[in-house]
Amino acid sequence: MSLFNAVEMAPRDPILGLTEQFVADPNPKKVNLGVGVYYDDNGKLPLLECVQKAEEKMMAAHAARGYLPIDGIAAYDAAIKALVFGADSEAVKSGRVATVQALGGTGGLKIGADFLKKLNPTAKVLISDPSWENHRGIFRDAGFTVENYPYYDADKRGIDMDGMLTALNTAPAGTIVVLHACCHNPTGYDLTAAQWDQVVAAVKARKLVAFLDMAYQGFGQGIAEDGIAVAKFLASGEDFLVSTSFSKSLSLYGERVGALSVLCQNKDEATRVLSQLKIVIRTNYSNPPTHGGQVAATILNTPELRALWEKELAAMRVRIKEMRGALVGKLKEKGVQRDFGFITQQVGMFSYSGLTKEQMVRLRNEFGVYGIESGRICVAALNSKNIDYVAESIATVVR
Ligand code: PLP
Repeated sequence: MSLFNAVEMAPRDPILGLTEQFVADPNPKKVNLGVGVYYDDNGKLPLLECVQKAEEKMMAAHAARGYLPIDGIAAYDAAIKALVFGADSEAVKSGRVATVQALGGTGGLKIGADFLKKLNPTAKVLISDPSWENHRGIFRDAGFTVENYPYYDADKRGIDMDGMLTALNTAPAGTIVVLHACCHNPTGYDLTAAQWDQVVAAVKARKLVAFLDMAYQGFGQGIAEDGIAVAKFLASGEDFLVSTSFSKSLSLYGERVGALSVLCQNKDEATRVLSQLKIVIRTNYSNPPTHGGQVAATILNTPELRALWEKELAAMRVRIKEMRGALVGKLKEKGVQRDFGFITQQVGMFSYSGLTKEQMVRLRNEFGVYGIESGRICVAALNSKNIDYVAESIATVVR
C-alpha cells in the first residue's frame, strides 16, 4: 500500500479554477472579471515605470545575492513603517513598531497568525462576512477557530454596522479581529471614519486584538486617506498588527512583497516581539527574497521614484473610479431599470454587483463574462474596450 494512498483530493481554489475555465473558453469576446489584479486600459498587467527605473538602477549596481537578514532589508522595513504609520509618527520615532519583510500580504498575515497562536493559543479569530477567503484558511491552519462577524448587508447594500458591533461587543477578551483597513475584498464597502471610531472603541473596551489587513493602500482614496484605520488604532493607544502588501500598489504580484508590523507599547516590547517574529520566519523560510523588497525600498526611498510611484498609483486609482462610473452610466444607457449607482460608492478593485448566482452563471456561460458566483466583479479588469460588451451582457441578464 502506498504511503499516499489515502490522500484525498483537495478542493480546487475557486478563483484559480475560474481562471482556468476562462483560459479554455474559445469565445473571442470573453472578459475575466473574476481576477484579483489590476489591468490597464489595454487589458494588460502593468509593469510600473517606477519599478522599471528602480530595476535599472539595481541592475547597474550588479549587487551580489547574499542572504538577507531574517527580518528583511532594513531600508525596506523603515520605509514600510513610514508608509503605514507616517514618517513623523511618534510610534515609529520611539521605536515601538516591530516590522518584518514578508512574502506578500499573505506572508504578513501568516507570520502574524503564527506569532499570535504562540502568544494566546486559545484565542478565537473573527473575520468579516464575507471576507477574502484566504483569511479563514490562514488562521485556521495556524490552529485557530475562525468565526465571522457580520459585515455586508445585502438588502441595504452596505455595512451591517449594528451586527458588526454586536459581534465585537460580545466577543471574549483576546479575540483576534481581522479588519480590512481599506478597499474591502470582496464587497468594496469600507467603514466611514465615524464607523471606524465605533470599531476602535469596541476593540478597546472588549480587550480584543485588531489585525488590520492593508492589501490595497492607495487604491481607495489615496495613500494617506486609506491609512485612516491605522491612524485611528494608533490614536487609541492599543497594540495591534498590520499586514501590508505591494502586490497591487506596485503591481509586483509575483515578487511577493509585503510586511507585518506590530505596534507595541514601547521599544523594549517591540524588540522582544521582533525577536519572536524572527523565530517564526526562521523556522518557515529562513529569510525573505532580495529582489522585490529591494525594488520597493529603492522606490520608496528615492524621492523622484517615490513621486513617480504616487503618480502611477493615482492613475490606477482614478481609472478604477472611472470604470465604476462608466459601468453605471452604460447600464442606464442600455435601459436597465435597476439603479446600479451603488457601484460608484464602493472603493477598491472589487464590486459586489448585486447580481445573483444565476445571473453570474449566465454571464459566464452565455457571454464569456467571468465573475465570482457571489456577484463579485473586478472593476479593475474593465477597460474602454470591454466595458460596452460587459454592460450589454449584464443588461441582458438583468432584463
Ligand atoms: N488580503 C486581502 C484582503 C487580499 O485581497 C489579498 C490579495 O488578493 C491579500 C491579502 C494577499 O495579498 P498578497 O498577494 O500580497 O499576498
